[in-house]
Amino acid sequence: MQDNHLLDPFGRRISYLRLSVTDRCDFRCTYCMSEDMVFAPRAQILSLEELYAVADAFIDLGVKRIRITGGEPLVRKGLTSLLARLGAREELEDLAITSNGSQLAHMATDLRRSGVTRLNISLDSLQRERFAAFTRRDRLDQVLAGIDAARAAGFRRIKLNTVVQKGRNDDEVQDLVAFAVERGLDISFIEEMPLGSISSHERKVTLCTSEEVRERVGQRFQLLPSSYRTGGPSRYYQVIGTETQVGFISPHSRNFCGDCNRVRVTAEGKLVLCLGHEGALDLKALIRRHPGDRERLRAALIDALRLKPEKHHFEADSQVQVVRFMSMTGG
Ligand code: SAM
Ligand code: SF4
Repeated sequence: MQDNHLLDPFGRRISYLRLSVTDRCDFRCTYCMSEDMVFAPRAQILSLEELYAVADAFIDLGVKRIRITGGEPLVRKGLTSLLARLGAREELEDLAITSNGSQLAHMATDLRRSGVTRLNISLDSLQRERFAAFTRRDRLDQVLAGIDAARAAGFRRIKLNTVVQKGRNDDEVQDLVAFAVERGLDISFIEEMPLGSISSHERKVTLCTSEEVRERVGQRFQLLPSSYRTGGPSRYYQVIGTETQVGFISPHSRNFCGDCNRVRVTAEGKLVLCLGHEGALDLKALIRRHPGDRERLRAALIDALRLKPEKHHFEADSQVQVVRFMSMTGG
């Protein structure tokens, strides 16, 4: 039996896994995908059994939090059966999902029953036309209904995620915080990262820093720096007098690598040690060559952690730095 935890060469203990269950999605957000995305052939995607085997190995090695992501995780068939198996693992402190919200109106209750504790829902605009421009889909109402259903289903916390772009939704950040406050939700604002090649906009022109967003939100709401942490890279502020935490994810303006505690596994079974680097280990090849060999999988994970880079470097003036799209890696 191997040593029972995952440490990288910089002494960081890995306790958080982001597991992508599909690269497919029913939206085509401009910062994330091109309209004519080519998805991986189904045979290349990990089966539900293989996804569980990967998660199981990480849990055995001390991972306490798993976030299920994609693509859009809720379009993956059979997802709730995987969630129920993970939800039954007592070692897990947190089983979370990041979703675009489109399927939540009919799935929220099942997700909660399967043991999902927290939900992140992406919402870039409250204005129908803008929402459609961001996602290339006219489905704002569907997502708002999904948010209502999630609130009714009783998750521990629900957080909205908003990618802020100058000239496109930066004037809406106060309204989005008001929306969150009225519903007792949290909200994180994200600086766009240069992942995947896109043609819809020039990222260095639309980049809106967390500092700019915080200043704008602060004009309407009183923000108090908060010690609230979710295991992710957000830095939080409490909106005084409310339950709402406002988070900022700042890959450009604040390098959060020092306390990085997470790794990602793509839907194709690639272990990605850092979002800002191309390097990845092919877990699928290993699992398919040695099905059911849990010991070998654990040993490979421990070995791979030796290669986790110290930090990422994103440059705002570069359009593409990592060829992988966020939808492939899992956000
Ligand atoms: N489909 C789900 C969703 O949209 O929430 C989960 C996957 S998505 C890739 C996860 C998160 O990544 C979303 O909040 C999305 O806004 C964010 N995202 C995608 N591409 C990004 C980029 N280039 N820079 C920053 N955030 C990005
Ligand atoms: Fe789909 Fe999420 Fe990417 Fe939007 S951000 S295209 S919803 S995977």
